[in-house]
Amino acid sequence: MSSNTSAAALSAASKERTLLEKLNAEWHERALRLFMVVVLAHWAEHLTQAVQIYALGWPVPEARGVLGLWFPWMVKSEALHYGYAIVMLIGLWIFRTGFTGRSYTWWMISFWIQFWHHIEHALLQGQAIVGHNLFDRPAPVSIVQLWVPRVELHLFYNTVVFIPMVIGMYYHLFPPAGDAAHPAACNCAWKPKARTGR
Ligand SMILES: [Zn+2]
Repeated sequence: MSSNTSAAALSAASKERTLLEKLNAEWHERALRLFMVVVLAHWAEHLTQAVQIYALGWPVPEARGVLGLWFPWMVKSEALHYGYAIVMLIGLWIFRTGFTGRSYTWWMISFWIQFWHHIEHALLQGQAIVGHNLFDRPAPVSIVQLWVPRVELHLFYNTVVFIPMVIGMYYHLFPPAGDAAHPAACNCAWKPKARTGR
């Protein structure tokens, strides 16, 4: 009986491992596409906000992107900003092992920058929860925000997370010749001949 239980536990453990493995193998392509949709939607909101401020000259509190125009609480909610930072961090971490060679290096650069970005959001979220802002500022403030205003700072953060992520994705779809020794387990790499042959 006990051997059955441990066999069941073992198979449960192997199933759990398989989910992560699948996400980095046969499901990598679909999972990354979904992840990219989320990233691009968030990016579009930040870009819209930048256009509203710099091109349209709207005052910052009124420049709330697209969704924020109808749901102003979304922009003001530190929990939502923090939630997105966490989703981003988890996605970059979960899908990392599907990347190999040069693409892995760039993907992890994106992850570590996002790690810092997420610390900044954790600080903002902490002030919102405690109800007291650092340096007695009127709004929650993060560390680098002492030198760069919030809108510009997060535009910068999103850019420096996005660029290495896209480079990593590019090398993942089009592996450089030097990475032939580290083939990926997924179907993301663009192989026109292999595809038509299927
Ligand atoms: Zn892949």
